[in-house]
Amino acid sequence: MPAGLLRPALLAAARSPRLERGVTRMRATRSLVDRFVAGSTEPQAIAATTALRSSGRFVTIDYLGEDTTDLGRARDTVAHYRALLTALAELPDATEPGTVRPLEVSLKLSALGQSLPRDGHRIALDNAREICAAAHDAGVAVTVDAEDHTTTDSTLSIVRDLRVDFPGTGTVLQAYLRRTEADCRDFAGPGSRIRLCKGAYREPESVAYQSAAEVDAAYLRCLRILMDGAGYPMVATHDPAMIAAAQRYADEVDRKADEFEFQMLYGIRDAEQRRLAEDSHRVRVYLPYGDQWYGYFMRRLAERPANLVFFLRALAPA
Ligand code: FAD
Repeated sequence: MPAGLLRPALLAAARSPRLERGVTRMRATRSLVDRFVAGSTEPQAIAATTALRSSGRFVTIDYLGEDTTDLGRARDTVAHYRALLTALAELPDATEPGTVRPLEVSLKLSALGQSLPRDGHRIALDNAREICAAAHDAGVAVTVDAEDHTTTDSTLSIVRDLRVDFPGTGTVLQAYLRRTEADCRDFAGPGSRIRLCKGAYREPESVAYQSAAEVDAAYLRCLRILMDGAGYPMVATHDPAMIAAAQRYADEVDRKADEFEFQMLYGIRDAEQRRLAEDSHRVRVYLPYGDQWYGYFMRRLAERPANLVFFLRALAPA
């Protein structure tokens, strides 16, 4: 299959329950999953967090799960976040002063009930609020992830509501969406924390740029708005060109190294993460854990065909 068709095919597969059942049962998948996912349990996530903190990196932890269609499962996700936050509160970082917290959790609203057919928006807001309150008590920040474009309005409205009581709540904006430059302007006010990423879902042309060149150009325009704005930009990318541009734009507007941060995914470009951290930049690692890794894992395969080759090799009989 040509490389250009691989990405949409893998992203479609990321939402197939039938394929999920097949892929998650294969024992050979596990070693590649372990590259991107820091274990199944809270103690494993805490151990990975402690290791990253010892190299000076900040962390944002995601309890994996998405597209929940069951209220009980959404409540189970809240329980996992509460257990995680209780454990994080014991770490020395939780009590360190400062407005930018070294420890953060990332939430997917679809895991908290947003896609439930009845009252999903309100249920996700209530669940997210409960987690924000627990995070506040634990000295841990919260950022709300961005999912597919059908959820964007609901997600941004929930973030606005959360920010009334928890003003530090961060939000994610996806540069591939045509609307995002306007969202960057809306959200780049004082005290905001905005993670800018390229975007990881399969989106139609009507709402999203399709070519890599268009997405990169949009990312740079959005980055410029955030760097010029009054908020705290969180530059989530592994792309050397975007990283260099962020450094350049920050210098141009005299933003110091502690007035923005780089973010990368657990297991991706680890040497570059360390290099930036050693170079006095703030670097935060997005660290996922839990058993529901399928959708997250398939999006990582879709981003880089070489990952798929490793995966297929692992499946081949020895
Ligand atoms: P690309 O052009 O895709 O990649 C640049 C280079 O980075 C590649 O050449 C390769 O060397 C390396 N690289 C990129 N991806 C991989 C990979 N999977 N495996 C190995 N190497 C790789 N997306 C959302 O839609 N919503 C979110 O809430 C969200 N949160 C994110 C949080 C963080 C901290 C990060 C880093 C990304 C997040 N993403 C999210 C994913 C993002 O949208 C992109 O899909 C992903 O980061 C790849 O884009 P890139 O900017 O790294 O650039």
